[in-house]
Amino acid sequence: TGSLPTDPAEIARLDRAHVFHSWSAQDKVDPMVVVGGEGNYVIAGDGRRYLDFSGQLVFTNIGHQHPRVTEAIAAQAAQLCTTAPAHATAAKSEAARLIAELTPGDLDSIFFTNGGAEATEHAIRMARQFTGRNKILSRYRSYHGATQTAINVTGDERRWPSDTATAGTVHFFGPFLYRSVFHAETPEQERDRALEHLEQTIRMEGPDTIAAVMLETIPGTAGIMPPPEGYLAGVRRICDRYGVLLILDEVMAGFGRTGRWLALDHYDVTPDLMTFAKGVTAGYVPLGGVAISRAIRDHFGQRPYPGGLTYSGHPLACAAAVATITTMRAEGMIDNADRIGSQVLGPGLAEIAQRHRSVGEARGIGVFWALDLVADQETREPLGADRVAATVAACKAAGLLPFTAGNRIHVVPSCTISDDEARQGLAILDEALAVADGH
Ligand code: PLP
Repeated sequence: TGSLPTDPAEIARLDRAHVFHSWSAQDKVDPMVVVGGEGNYVIAGDGRRYLDFSGQLVFTNIGHQHPRVTEAIAAQAAQLCTTAPAHATAAKSEAARLIAELTPGDLDSIFFTNGGAEATEHAIRMARQFTGRNKILSRYRSYHGATQTAINVTGDERRWPSDTATAGTVHFFGPFLYRSVFHAETPEQERDRALEHLEQTIRMEGPDTIAAVMLETIPGTAGIMPPPEGYLAGVRRICDRYGVLLILDEVMAGFGRTGRWLALDHYDVTPDLMTFAKGVTAGYVPLGGVAISRAIRDHFGQRPYPGGLTYSGHPLACAAAVATITTMRAEGMIDNADRIGSQVLGPGLAEIAQRHRSVGEARGIGVFWALDLVADQETREPLGADRVAATVAACKAAGLLPFTAGNRIHVVPSCTISDDEARQGLAILDEALAVADGH
């Protein structure tokens, strides 16, 4: 077996010599060397332990190195590491059954991918094939992945450099009361105006040209904006009115993050297609997929589906999914996420928001929270990048690893976080926010 470098300085040197990093100016990359993980802690090369409020990229929903899952992966590796996607395996069959059990309505057929972006690609291809229409409507302030179609339905600035193939993607505004483009003052106004805007967009684009509306059930990277009561049901009604499919993206919000198995469980809405990734295996082995309605599955009953992946339903990934789902269930992790959200993170972050002039709003649910940092409470001007970076640095210096996006700090620990760990993290965040306040 090849030997791995053990000296943290050598690991960092090799990284900078040979690894090309996502979304980064390569000369400015300075990665933290990570050598281990344990529950809600990450162990860095210098031996420091960081309380993980990031879920890495919001995916380690069961915490780090959960023994039931690492053992299941090892057992699968010992028995059968890999197969062609055409074959049936115990891990793939059982993972599909477990996921189908969690999805609403008749979304009982699962196409496995390697991650979220591929799930977006395939959900869109299925919708286009099924409807014979081309356009996909998605919201500004969204993220659906970084492959060509996925980045073009994404509604943030990461789309702009790749904006060479927008044909077939149209954006609209979703509800976001704190930064309302609809001049709304109440959630009900925001909901009604956002729905009216979506319906007008569909009419102006031409309903017969639109295959699907694609939405994150709760937009994640864009700022964790739980939709107002009735919004998603309203979207479903509008889609049905015009024969447009609804695709819900549960990649970040799914698998326990919101204190329910799926974020859509809060809203009583059934999409035609649902994408997932991240939490389904807690990222232990990469896996994503699309849950498909009966009608769309049957569309490909006699004609072949024009798409596939070498590693669709990879045994190691599917074994990790089975172990993750069964462990989450056995250990009550969804209930813990729900309780921590309503009893510790929600109230704690609300207090923090009151104490700090840099915190414009704290919003979220379960273990899925954002602090919207502002330079000015009145104008809600987003806090500058330097000040956000300095605040994150203060968190890290005190042993906390937060997740940051734009002008926000996201509090997105695992579903297993304990009351004490959550309180410790909030206390560090509270102190670090003095930097954001400008003290
Ligand atoms: N969809 C959502 C909501 C996401 O948050 C992400 C990743 O952050 C993706 C899709 C893309 O997933 P991946 O990075 O696995 O391709």
